[in-house]
Amino acid sequence: MADKAYLDWPFLEPRHRALEGELDAWAAAHLGGGHAADVDAACRALVRHLGDAGWLRYAVGGTQYGGMGEALDTRVLCLIRETLARHEGLADFAFAMQGLGSGAISLFGSAGQKEAYLPRVARGAAIAAFALSEPQAGSDVAALQCAAVRDGGDYVLDGEKTWISNGGIADFYVVFARTGEAPGARGISAFIVDAGTPGFTIAERIEVIAPHPLARLRFDGCRVPAANVIGVAGQGFKVAMATLDVFRTSVAAAALGFARRALDEALARARSRPMFGGVLADLQLTQAKLAQMATGIDAAALLTYRAAWLRDSSVRVTKEAAMAKMTATETAQQVIDAAVQMFGGQGVVSGETVESLYREIRALRIYEGATEVQQLIIARELLREPV
Ligand SMILES: Cc1cc2nc3c(=O)[nH]c(=O)nc-3n(C[C@H](O)[C@H](O)[C@H](O)COP(=O)(O)OP(=O)(O)OC[C@H]3O[C@@H](n4cnc5c(N)ncnc54)[C@H](O)[C@@H]3O)c2cc1C
Repeated sequence: MADKAYLDWPFLEPRHRALEGELDAWAAAHLGGGHAADVDAACRALVRHLGDAGWLRYAVGGTQYGGMGEALDTRVLCLIRETLARHEGLADFAFAMQGLGSGAISLFGSAGQKEAYLPRVARGAAIAAFALSEPQAGSDVAALQCAAVRDGGDYVLDGEKTWISNGGIADFYVVFARTGEAPGARGISAFIVDAGTPGFTIAERIEVIAPHPLARLRFDGCRVPAANVIGVAGQGFKVAMATLDVFRTSVAAAALGFARRALDEALARARSRPMFGGVLADLQLTQAKLAQMATGIDAAALLTYRAAWLRDSSVRVTKEAAMAKMTATETAQQVIDAAVQMFGGQGVVSGETVESLYREIRALRIYEGATEVQQLIIARELLREPV
């Protein structure tokens, strides 16, 4: 049973505690299915399931569009991701991508775009994807090359996107392409591209260590109406960064969920594994490990919920979100590795919980800004502060 003392921290309100309790009970009853033979089908089913149960309403903004609140609530996103990740990584992924994939519409979409997409996302009737990265533009995302050229009332897209979560199963994609109003980051626009639009294909399915729907996308003369531009043409980089600003802290929360699950598993193992005439937990080296794991989790949780609370208080959280994402993902990796070590040979057996957590956590240190990118963000913000 995970330590829930953090729910009493002053960053959270009674409504947050209530939500966590409700979701935890729902997840215990409905999730934890483990390895899915068909990950795409499992993901589609999870989206429907999360939608039917009402949880996806928290992933979109605007009550008139099916959202639970007018704005995206960062602490709620964090609590949901942390709780889902503790129960089942793929459920966290399904929830997170509904939010990230539709986030640009929640934040910058027109009334028509919100009406057309958000209610379906909130019900789990449409699957969303966020397509920013390219083969030559990951960390250096402003270098993206996918082009969108205006042609009458349309834009014509040509180029590629890669590492796109939900690629192949999404019903629509928010695609960032160069429209050239100005050089670099100031000449990018965000578009909604529906699956099945002529000229848009899935070029490659990508298999990763923790199976998720993931693909490389190809656009060949793909025509989308100018009405599908999200926000102002040329301001797509701002749209992307604002969307990531909301969801970056929630990546930290997902990492926390994985880490808490690993600590639970490690505690259970330490208490039950006979060793040297006692159990593993009797050994002081084990106790040191457990102390380190629990302290790391609390430190990461403090940074995560501080960033979420600040953002919900309308404070700019660029530095705090980067600190949370970096610390929580790096700490979770260490905690999970320690748990695998405590399981001995059993820790690397396929299907063992700590084994799947070990695979699950790795990509979180890379996507939505690798740790090195977070370090640069933190340093840039520090150096910007007045002396
Ligand atoms: C499982 C998964 C899911 C993803 N889902 C999506 C998605 O849905 N949508 C989307 O758009 N993208 C997605 N991505 C892409 C992800 O955001 C990129 O992988 C990430 O931004 C890194 O880009 P890259 O892979 O091109 O690595 P690169 O940019 O080549 O970076 C490689 C490494 O270089 C190091 N590095 C980077 N910058 C610096 C620096 N300044 N100094 C020193 N070292 C540095 C870091 O260690 C980094 O990991 C996903 C990736 C993965 C793995």
